[in-house]
Amino acid sequence: MIEIENVHKSFGALEVLKGIDLTVEKGEVVSVIGGSGSGKSTLLTCINGLEPINTGRIVVDGTEVHAASTDLNRLRRKIGIVFQQFNAFPHLTVLENVTLALRKVLGKSRGEAEEIAARQLGHVGLGDKLKVYPGRLSGGQQQRMAIARALAMSPDYILFDEVTSALDPQLVGEVLDTLKLLAEEGMTMICVTHEMNFARDVSHRVAFFHKGVMAEIGAPDQIFGAPERPETREFLSNVR
Ligand code: ATP
Ligand code: MG
Repeated sequence: MIEIENVHKSFGALEVLKGIDLTVEKGEVVSVIGGSGSGKSTLLTCINGLEPINTGRIVVDGTEVHAASTDLNRLRRKIGIVFQQFNAFPHLTVLENVTLALRKVLGKSRGEAEEIAARQLGHVGLGDKLKVYPGRLSGGQQQRMAIARALAMSPDYILFDEVTSALDPQLVGEVLDTLKLLAEEGMTMICVTHEMNFARDVSHRVAFFHKGVMAEIGAPDQIFGAPERPETREFLSNVR
């Protein structure tokens, strides 16, 4: 369970998160929508401890992320994160890209790492690309490789930050299908997304962020069908 309690976060004088409260249960898929600069990405980077927070707390399975005693490397093995821009090692094959952290971070043998990596690459539909270099993959395939790399670490949670935003429109679907598969398998996910159909069809709850505040959260039917806040209505009327 991820518990976010009254989190405030500033960059210098700019307050980016203004008291966020959100609890994500095991197996839940929460989509986060909202305008540019509303704090969506910042929230994700705070959850896995990439960014410090000013006040409040974030607790993941009982461990307070920003406590001085928390082993962040250990925590991050529990929480995968996949970004919009994919950074693969171009001189390593797809298989090697995915085995790298398994070997270096988890200390797996080459054989075990390759077995896990091949299984996860198969899971995202890249079973025939193991020996290929990332430069030869399409954008959608590269993003699926990034997802396989996150999955290979056996995380309990995965945070997705607009993983389809940099893709050509015809490649978006295959990546969303992969996310949908993970959701159906019960993975706990927080998905920052501009894909409203995905948010409506796949998530259990949708959170709307506006200027650093979680202005509204609810079931997809409620958020898309009967938004309560004027900010939510205005945002949705502009994206559809
Ligand atoms: P987008 O939809 O454009 O990705 P977002 O909701 O993800 O937007 P954030 O990236 O969380 O927004 O940024 C929130 C605000 O914090 C923005 O005003 C941004 O300029 C600012 N910001 C983000 N990261 C930093 C940083 N490292 N240093 C200073 N300001 C930052
Ligand atoms: Mg962002």
